[in-house]
Amino acid sequence: MKYASVIININTKKLKDPFTYIVPPSLADKVRIGSVVDIPFGKGNNLKKGYVIELSDSLSFDVRKYNLKEIVSVSEDISFDSELVDLAVFISKRYFTTLSKAFNTILPSKIDTSHRKEVYIHLIKDRNFVIDYIERNKEKKSFNKRIMVLEYLLNYGNVKRTTLLKDINVSRTVLDTLERSRLINMISNVSIRLPYDSSKIARKNKLIPNIEQAKAIDTVSKSMLRNKSEIYLLHGVTGSGKTEVYLQLIEETLSIGKTAIFLIPEISLTHQTVRRVMARFGDVVGVIHSRLSAGEKYDQWMLAKEGKLKVIIGPRSAVFTPFLDIGIIIIDEEHEGTYKSEQEPKYNAREIAIKRADFHKCPVVLGSATPLVENYHKALNNKYILLTLGDKAQNDNRVDVEIVDMRQELKNDNNSIFSKSLKEAIEDRLNKKEQIILFLNSRAYARSLNCLSCGYVAKCSHCDVSYHYHKNENALICHYCDSKKAVFKTCPKCGSSKVKALGIGTQKVEQLLNETFPEARVLRMDLDTTSGKFGHDAILSAFAKHEADILVGTQMVVKGHHFSNVTLVGVLSADISLYTNDYRASERTFQLITQVIGRAGRGIKEGRGIIQTYSPSHYSIESSQSEDYISFYQREIMFRKMGNYPPFTNILVFMISSKNERYTEKLINRLITYLKTDDDRYEVLGPTKPSRDKLADSYRRVIYVKSNSYQLLLQMIEFMRKAKNKEDYEKLATLSADINPTYMWGD
Ligand code: ADP
Ligand code: ZN
Ligand code: ZN
Repeated sequence: MKYASVIININTKKLKDPFTYIVPPSLADKVRIGSVVDIPFGKGNNLKKGYVIELSDSLSFDVRKYNLKEIVSVSEDISFDSELVDLAVFISKRYFTTLSKAFNTILPSKIDTSHRKEVYIHLIKDRNFVIDYIERNKEKKSFNKRIMVLEYLLNYGNVKRTTLLKDINVSRTVLDTLERSRLINMISNVSIRLPYDSSKIARKNKLIPNIEQAKAIDTVSKSMLRNKSEIYLLHGVTGSGKTEVYLQLIEETLSIGKTAIFLIPEISLTHQTVRRVMARFGDVVGVIHSRLSAGEKYDQWMLAKEGKLKVIIGPRSAVFTPFLDIGIIIIDEEHEGTYKSEQEPKYNAREIAIKRADFHKCPVVLGSATPLVENYHKALNNKYILLTLGDKAQNDNRVDVEIVDMRQELKNDNNSIFSKSLKEAIEDRLNKKEQIILFLNSRAYARSLNCLSCGYVAKCSHCDVSYHYHKNENALICHYCDSKKAVFKTCPKCGSSKVKALGIGTQKVEQLLNETFPEARVLRMDLDTTSGKFGHDAILSAFAKHEADILVGTQMVVKGHHFSNVTLVGVLSADISLYTNDYRASERTFQLITQVIGRAGRGIKEGRGIIQTYSPSHYSIESSQSEDYISFYQREIMFRKMGNYPPFTNILVFMISSKNERYTEKLINRLITYLKTDDDRYEVLGPTKPSRDKLADSYRRVIYVKSNSYQLLLQMIEFMRKAKNKEDYEKLATLSADINPTYMWGD
């Protein structure tokens, strides 16, 4: 008899452990580790889906005492490989979550198998080969029909067979001949919903790498050929041509028959990256991200698993692409916080990538102009291998960057949000028909609505945060829970009419731009103006076509975009990210400013950057003026060392949240008794309130544990998991745990 341990896919916290099922002889050769199965569950024997994580021939307990049930059927469409099963186990332990949630994170969102069967045709060989083939055979009469098909496919790329047969007058046998000669491929198991059409993207050849690029490509390629899971940190200044390095590494990978995962920080960058990669490699390139439909995602997943796609691009979840033979994993803009999930399981795609690379014995490349301080520290200490691109790839137009002291502007009676310098520069670019990007790390019209008489501030009743004032929607909106409240003209507390909106957001900047530069066309890009699959793209492509002169926006304008006509970048208030209650505040400020300034001077014209700030001599602002990462790093690492922050220690955060404040307090006080010992390998701080102690009606309390030993903290998570099982509170409260979180809870 064979038995299977099955994780049942139901979202209740009680069902953490696998259940044992009998594998009936009829299914014995179908059930494998990683299979998705249907099983009867509970008193009513309702059919549920489950994941097989273990198989055995015997049991450690007496079978007769338990009424074991049988697996009913096996889903043929989807299964895990043992690597991904191990990964799920790792995720559940490391990120404090259930196995079922871990599996759901790895699987495409819906196990959707209701596909119409449709046959798709595409070219296997690359374009040059096909063109060559046509040239060689075009005189031969017997090749006429075959050439018609090939030319059609060169024009239209991936097409349905029915469409092709309708469009050109050929028979099925011609297609069969072409398939036999390994020129085309016909895929029939699922209908392939392609999110991008590679045939519409013009092909581009590779560039000749400069010396530094060549060295980077060469070094990583050697790791790849030797099957070494080495981790590279590619530190290249903005515009130094990191993408070309990635592309040539992918080419190496494909040439040895392996596959590549290319992670990017955000969906808004997917489109342009996909275009650049498809322009090089055509339709072996796929995309996985959360805005694809369930069907599209499933198709990409399956095509990758079957080896029909060779390169997958996407944000963090693409790290789970079920490739069997990964040759390289690339993480672009590795410093971005988005590589860490903010929802359970709070996995870190960088960590998962390194874990997978270890399994596949392939290198990982972490690329950035502003690497994470922790990672640069690792590179300097030989845990990672440092590669440097020190110069711009295309031109040596250094961007001329000016820091404007806004305190001085006030003294000179300028209380506008545009300094004299910035205003003149904007006018100058508008006259020259050049474009401008303005960055402000705050959306909405204003950050709060305040009464100047009594000091009243409208706060969300569900969260410990003030409402943002959205003028276009004429509402107060909470940026955490999205709840809304009516705008008031007189103070609800004292009746005064001295009500004022404070703290400028992008909506207000847009309005002020329209007032100050009436002739300028302004586009705004923030969470409020971008939604839907192509929301970002619409704005970016309009800007690229010069349908607007000024693009104003939040973080979204910072990353990776490439506009050759942008010659001025303004940072309206560099301080917003500087004074948050988080040891990473300076680092984040340096990253944001450097990256946004890097958007200037990408073309042949001279670029200029203007940074407005109230703290002009802060090192994170000073160093970003000359994009001097090393100088920033040296000062930052001293601060980390003195304050005993990562990378000199690790911080484990336990958080309790529940709807009842007193209960939250009681629990956190009970949990801390499990941790307080005189063990000097770690230090316990708290319990305390995080900087936002109430969000969406949940009260939150935290305990911090600091230790040099990462392993010890992992053990403490496991230990707390057991303690948690003893305390029976799960219906009322949630406990979460995270090591070195990107944001120290809620900032
Ligand atoms: P990064 O990602 O490092 O900010 P990009 O990859 O966007 O920089 O490259 C900046 C520009 O330099 C791009 O327009 C790219 O086409 C160009 N470029 C990169 N490498 C080369 C090269 N070896 N020769 C010529 N141009 C290059
Ligand atoms: Zn008042
Ligand atoms: Zn709220």
